[in-house]
Amino acid sequence: MTTSTEIRLASRPTGMPTPENFEVATVELPDPAPGQIQVRNQWMSVDPYMRGRMNDTRSYAAPFELGKAMQGGAVGTVTASNAEGYAEGDLVRSFFGWREAFNAPAAAVEKLDTRGLPPQAFLGVAGMPGLTAYTGLLRIAQLKDGDTVFVSGAAGAVGSLVCQIAKAKGHTVIGSAGGAEKIAFLKEIGVDHAIDYKAENNLSRALHRTAPDGIDVYFDNVGGDHLEAALNNAKLFSRFAICGLISAYNDTGPPAGPRNFVQVLARSVRMEGFIVSNHADLEPAFLADLSGWVKEDKVKWRETVVEGIVKAPEAFLGLFSGQNLGKMLVKLG
Ligand code: NDP
Repeated sequence: MTTSTEIRLASRPTGMPTPENFEVATVELPDPAPGQIQVRNQWMSVDPYMRGRMNDTRSYAAPFELGKAMQGGAVGTVTASNAEGYAEGDLVRSFFGWREAFNAPAAAVEKLDTRGLPPQAFLGVAGMPGLTAYTGLLRIAQLKDGDTVFVSGAAGAVGSLVCQIAKAKGHTVIGSAGGAEKIAFLKEIGVDHAIDYKAENNLSRALHRTAPDGIDVYFDNVGGDHLEAALNNAKLFSRFAICGLISAYNDTGPPAGPRNFVQVLARSVRMEGFIVSNHADLEPAFLADLSGWVKEDKVKWRETVVEGIVKAPEAFLGLFSGQNLGKMLVKLG
């Protein structure tokens, strides 16, 4: 028997979640059954989309079940195998979520080829957030020569890679994030203009200051006033990739804006929402390009690491107050 601590959804939040919405439980795992492996996670991911899954509403992903472990990406090692092709010590990525260890059919996990990157990068820059950046910028916003690119949530897991891909391709990049440390990081990764949105009382004017001729591409991680500012500064025929709207994830009523949505029409903005899981076909091209950019030192990434599974709710809640620079991760074991 192996012991595993897990974090379960205790109740559904209204507005911003609180620690009371989560509960800690310990389970005993038997030896893996035929066809199964036992995995001990080293790293688990907390991501903003998990907030939506805490609600009891149908969306592109099903709600988390009350009383069950929260789901999400993790990277760990096989500690016992009763399945062909898997041996103790193999590194795997899985989606069994906020738990220290689990038993699962071998077919339900993915053996990880780390390509020389640290394993936890496959929850961040080389994982789902990385593929989101690549898909949104290249496929959805259809980046083209000469584009000026505005990125909100620019110091986060997705946003920081969007900025660097655009820079690697020679574009002018404007990034917005909250606070001096994040602005310093944006400068370090080569962003041309970094806007500390928390220090600005008029985001639209701040964006105009940095891009007087307007923007061609907006990569939206935030929504609300950031989307309004982008619309006010949109060039004719600009393209908006609507990736996330984190400023509204804890709203209890309908969102206030963007009040200037009419600009989508007036400026012939092509604005397209996307869910990264519908673009998995891009993953081989993404990983090949990313490996090249990392070797050429064109891409850097940051991690904010919280230790121990019982701190997972704290790490998750920190996403909504900007406690993370780069990818928020939980280190286990
Ligand atoms: P991040 O690493 O960017 O973490 C979240 C960040 O959002 C925080 O650090 C904070 O940064 C910022 N933030 C939180 N609340 C607000 C607010 N009210 N106003 C402005 N900024 C805020 O997360 P990810 O990179 O994982 O995700 C970024 C976005 O991409 C999210 O909206 C997410 O839902 C979306 N996403 C969409 C996917 C898709 O398939 N469409 C897939 C993956 C992610 P700061 O301190 O700068 O405010």
